[in-house]
Amino acid sequence: MAHPKEERTLVFVKPDGVQRSLIGEILQRYERVGLKLVGVKMLVPSAPQVEKHYLLDPGWKRAAGEKAIKGYEEKGLEPPSREPEEIGGRVLENLKNYLTAGPIVLMVWQGAHAAELVRKITGGTEPLRSDVGTIRGDYVLDSFQMADQDKRAVRNLIHASGSAGEAEKEITHWFSADELVKYRLVGEHILYDVNIDGILE
Ligand code: ADP
Ligand code: MG
Repeated sequence: MAHPKEERTLVFVKPDGVQRSLIGEILQRYERVGLKLVGVKMLVPSAPQVEKHYLLDPGWKRAAGEKAIKGYEEKGLEPPSREPEEIGGRVLENLKNYLTAGPIVLMVWQGAHAAELVRKITGGTEPLRSDVGTIRGDYVLDSFQMADQDKRAVRNLIHASGSAGEAEKEITHWFSADELVKYRLVGEHILYDVNIDGILE
């Protein structure tokens, strides 16, 4: 079994994050927890690239629809439809407009529990309800309700893979093997080595 420190996850700063000048702040949050940046690039994604990215997970449309319905119900509001696949399909169309609007910054982060750790630091999908202290909770204020009313995707600064399995597919979708760098960070000694030695003189 691969060591947990080998786990990798994909993050991208969405066009709103780039426009808000938050690239450095976002990168720093993942860097300071101890994760290692092993790939990074900026590009303007095409609509087919965005669609393929989300549909790498065959259950995504339904899950996104169910999350939206739950969000409405928890606020005592009536969802625009009761059909998760239909809501998920609408979300995907809006996402294509949102993510192709300008450059995004893609990053691959490696380290123990990388996928779960990055999701925790990133925060929940809807910024209105994301925890304080998470990136989405601290730097933006959008809601499902406002996005729906204005017929657009929720602006939440970041994409982060949902699991290590999803991450591997997403990394292959956006990066070629030679764009990922294999190297050692000196700090990994303190994070992972069984014996912390060679420090005292
Ligand atoms: P996450 O990015 O937290 O993994 P999802 O994979 O469910 O969330 O959805 C992908 C992206 O689609 C979200 O980050 C958000 O930008 C947008 N989105 C999701 N659900 C909705 C919704 N109900 N209304 C508007 N936009 C949404
Ligand atoms: Mg997702």
